[in-house]
Amino acid sequence: MWADSGEYERVLGRAAEHAKAWLQALPARQVRPSKTADQVNSAFGGPLPAEGMDPEQLIDFLARNAEPGLMAMQSGRFFGWVIGGTLPSAMAADWLVSAWDQNTGLRFASPATAAIEQAAGQWLLELLGLPEGSDVGFTTGASMANFTALAAARWRQLEAAGWDVNANGLNGAPVLRVLAGAERHESLDMALRFLGLGAPEVVPADAQGRIEAAALRRALESGKGPAIVCLQAGNIHSGAFDPFPEAIAAAKEHDAWVHVDGAFGLWAAAVPELRPLWDGVALADSWGTDAHKTLNAPYDAGIVVVRDVAALRPAIGMHAEYLPQEDHGPGDPMEKSPELSRRARGVPVWAALRALGADGVRALVAGRAACTADLAARLADVPGVEVLNDVVYTQLSLAFGSDARTRAVTEYIMADGRVWMSGSRWHGRDILRVSVSNWSTDSDDIDTSVQTIRDALAATA
Ligand SMILES: *Cc1c(COP(=O)(O)O)cnc(C)c1O
Repeated sequence: MWADSGEYERVLGRAAEHAKAWLQALPARQVRPSKTADQVNSAFGGPLPAEGMDPEQLIDFLARNAEPGLMAMQSGRFFGWVIGGTLPSAMAADWLVSAWDQNTGLRFASPATAAIEQAAGQWLLELLGLPEGSDVGFTTGASMANFTALAAARWRQLEAAGWDVNANGLNGAPVLRVLAGAERHESLDMALRFLGLGAPEVVPADAQGRIEAAALRRALESGKGPAIVCLQAGNIHSGAFDPFPEAIAAAKEHDAWVHVDGAFGLWAAAVPELRPLWDGVALADSWGTDAHKTLNAPYDAGIVVVRDVAALRPAIGMHAEYLPQEDHGPGDPMEKSPELSRRARGVPVWAALRALGADGVRALVAGRAACTADLAARLADVPGVEVLNDVVYTQLSLAFGSDARTRAVTEYIMADGRVWMSGSRWHGRDILRVSVSNWSTDSDDIDTSVQTIRDALAATA
């Protein structure tokens, strides 16, 4: 039974009203939620009622009862973890994606969304300076982008060692070595676990968390057999980038596949002034990144780029008689990311890129790095503040004397609500992390941040 068109109109109208109210409240709203998940669950939980609910009432109920439990992650005053907001054009494009409801696995079945994703993929290769002809797949996030790239790496490196992993799996396979830096992101271990490759061999990192290229070379020399080397563009505590030219040269001497986790850092490659960070990154074999962090596209938007198209597609794709595939052209979306059925998540990425243009993307990324440097410089003058990292990109790690004081400052800031910054431990110390990832963060937000940290220090003295 098709709902009469009036029902879509009414219910989408209500949703748009609530969405606009939420967005309009953001500039003045405290960042933190005022209710816990358990408290919100008391409105939403309990047994599923037998009777349905009127759609407009449902949308009103949803918006009203969710609001106290929402974190204003889109606010320019949100600096937690590594989280972007949503550019208006990308959010609106995402609404269209829901309305169109295309299953974006096959070019034949959903030509429009497949073509738009193809265009976005081509732009990304150009913008980030990655090899022409690479496959670009749209995943849920960088974790799955890393997983997808490493599946291609596993397939290729075992194939080169005379082993067909698709036919034979890993039982009895040649040992595949995986090497990664001591300060890799934990989601890389998760991806390796999903792939049955176990924990990586850990290579020491320097004071900023960069893999030590000489140590990587020694580790590669001390063993043999097929290998994968995982490098990182953007350490979550320091923002540091691995030394790509040296590390990739060492890996290539041992015929290793090089994968780069650049969830938020790969975007630096769009900025010529940041070249000292990303120089050489394009010499790798695969890259994982996010559009929902630095680019400020809505969730879910991860991106995987693989140079060796002939390894990615057999590793991650599938074929079936009932799924008509084109036998020419750039390949179907389902051969480039793990899902068969999925939403057209590359369309909001296209919208974000097109809305900004190449110059706008550069300005966005350079602007986040400049805000971070500005905040660090202003905090360096505040008594009691220690800036722990070399501030090279969008991440700042702070401490305030003892671990206890740092934890107290962190708790004050999270409870205060003017800004949101979260804690971590780095190099054996409690720290306060600041990640500048939101497109709208400006100098007023940096002022508010400095003031909030000053107030936190005064309150915890
Ligand atoms: C966020 C992040 C990831 C994981 O990305 P998701 O989109 O959350 O899956 C991986 N690596 C780094 C460096 C990250 O910052």
